Amino acid sequence: MQFSALGLIDPLLKALDEEGYSSPTPIQAEAIPLLLEGHDLLGCAQTGTGKTAAFALPILQLLHQDQEHGRKRKIRCLVLTPTRELALQIGESFEAYGRHTGLKSTVIFGGVNQNPQTRTLAGGVDILVATPGRLLDLMGQEHLHLRDIEYFVLDEADRMLDMGFIHDVKKVLAALPKKKQSLFFSATMPPAIVNLAASILHQPKKVTV
Ligand code: AMP
Repeated sequence: MQFSALGLIDPLLKALDEEGYSSPTPIQAEAIPLLLEGHDLLGCAQTGTGKTAAFALPILQLLHQDQEHGRKRKIRCLVLTPTRELALQIGESFEAYGRHTGLKSTVIFGGVNQNPQTRTLAGGVDILVATPGRLLDLMGQEHLHLRDIEYFVLDEADRMLDMGFIHDVKKVLAALPKKKQSLFFSATMPPAIVNLAASILHQPKKVTV
């Protein structure tokens, strides 16, 4: 199986080649075509399975195909993740896979000065990777809004709950537009997670690895 068989466009195939990826992992082979078709996704997957590329590649493609050139960038994709380390890793993945798309991403997380983050946001980004607390802080200060979100990813939902972020996650959800494509990833699916997923996803396709 090759990445080109999944319907990915040249700017992404070129970046994957440069990354040295020769073939998709099982979750990538399964999820990428479904996401390109516009389905919501419920993914039962751990880190290390290639989950990040499974969502980053189709989102980059959909954003790239529908890019308004010459307009100020607006945040069209939000990835919510529980920790700074995960946020940085996901941000690096979007940068690497998206390097030939012209799309811009950034990462925000707490525990550091917010000024560099707000300066980057003010310059305009297409993709925002965030931890919940800092996201809500910067929204509260009107450094960003989520009204233009078309793609929403909730990553490591079970860890989000374990870390006590459920209240923050629900506040973020309430600020998202109704019409969007949503992706939900969790390593485990206890009842609280199943309920949360049901409140976010619309007729999701399920992928388990
Ligand atoms: P993730 O599960 O998204 O954290 O990815 C785990 C690791 O696998 C990361 O270091 C990726 O760079 C790498 N990776 C993801 N997809 C592929 C692939 N198709 N071929 C080779 N390496 C990959």
